[in-house]
Amino acid sequence: MIDLTVEQRDLRDAVSALGRRYGHEYFVRKAKAGEHTTELWAEAGKLGYLGVSLPTEYGGGGGGITELALVCEELAAAGCPLLLLVVSPAIAGTILAKHGTEAQRQRYLPGIADGSQKIVFAITEPEAGSNFHRLGTVAQRDGDDWVISGRKAFISGVDEADHVLVVARTADAATGKLQPALFVVPTDASGLSRSQLEMEIVSPENQWLLYLDEVRLPADALVGEDTRVGLPALFTGLNPERITVAAMGAGTARYAIERASSYASTRSVWGRPIGTHQGVAHPLAHAAIQVELARLMIYRAAALYDAGRDLEAGIAANMAKYASSEAATQAVDTAIQVHGGNGMTTDYGVATLLGGVRAGRIAPVSREMILNFVAQHVLGQDKSY
Ligand SMILES: Cc1cc2nc3c(=O)[nH]c(=O)nc-3n(C[C@H](O)[C@H](O)[C@H](O)COP(=O)(O)OP(=O)(O)OC[C@H]3O[C@@H](n4cnc5c(N)ncnc54)[C@H](O)[C@@H]3O)c2cc1C
Repeated sequence: MIDLTVEQRDLRDAVSALGRRYGHEYFVRKAKAGEHTTELWAEAGKLGYLGVSLPTEYGGGGGGITELALVCEELAAAGCPLLLLVVSPAIAGTILAKHGTEAQRQRYLPGIADGSQKIVFAITEPEAGSNFHRLGTVAQRDGDDWVISGRKAFISGVDEADHVLVVARTADAATGKLQPALFVVPTDASGLSRSQLEMEIVSPENQWLLYLDEVRLPADALVGEDTRVGLPALFTGLNPERITVAAMGAGTARYAIERASSYASTRSVWGRPIGTHQGVAHPLAHAAIQVELARLMIYRAAALYDAGRDLEAGIAANMAKYASSEAATQAVDTAIQVHGGNGMTTDYGVATLLGGVRAGRIAPVSREMILNFVAQHVLGQDKSY
């Protein structure tokens, strides 16, 4: 792990204490009851953790993605991997802070920062998938208004959110030329409907299919002054998303390793703790090394991003996300193995992490698309698709 400033260490310790007061049992109980982590979210907002990366003039803490990554990692390390941290403050908050109009910043950022509002993010579509150039959601002008139609898939947290940041194309789909634009769409807008996707992930945060059927929006729903803001705004959101997802994965992995280490040093079946068998201890040590390597890259990517070194940050954020999701999947699998049969019980709280870390190898960008990116942009290979 990189050296943190005194303020960052204090933030990390305070977030960790908050997360541990709630813990994984709370997270699982909420998930299984079909409820949300409302109390934890509200408290994190009140303590300034949700808005830690947003500008102070809009109620934020004035920190960077480094601070937000610490919040994501520490809550996950306490057994509460909150995906909406990635979506509302990291993606929507960063995009609106950097590319929103002054009126949009004033309207939305204070609520994101104090937790009273959530804005979720909708780019994925059933047909387009990883290829966002194929976006089929279209926004057309009608007088001053915008009218949006299309479908979105896997959109996290729509049921908890006040608004969805929807990515749509403004050029005619037939021209094939993508001019993405972002729109802040109220979740109760006329013409917007949703159905829940049943997921095999133990989480209080749900995924949704969204249907936009001629959703009419006023001119000021468009993020920024005009549609040219769309593409840079979209790219602005990608690196914070990858860095915070990676941080959440690293935190989850730490939680799993901590649980398994504690079990290995107390469970005894041959007269001494199972942790004395190298077959048990080495996979755990290996997982710890992989997670620590991923954390180095996560905070390197965050530092580059916070320093405005966007090109380098893009490469580092992709690598960090890849390294973290691989390490987290392996760490949770190892933790289950170390627990033997108990590893598959709800009580021991490690198998409940499996769906979340496994999804991290697919979303928000799959491991294959990251390998494509690195092959092309780092190794200079021709684009393969
Ligand atoms: C838990 C969860 C939460 C999510 N939350 C959100 C959200 O809030 N908002 C949102 O917009 N989206 C969200 N997503 C969607 C997520 O971003 C997509 O699932 C992801 O981008 C992959 O797209 P896809 O599922 O369409 O897979 P596809 O694009 O269909 O890909 C399927 C497989 O083919 C591989 N593949 C595709 N193209 C290539 C290629 N050129 N080379 C090599 N391999 C390739 C992929 O890597 C993958 O393994 C979420 C997904 C999950 C699972």
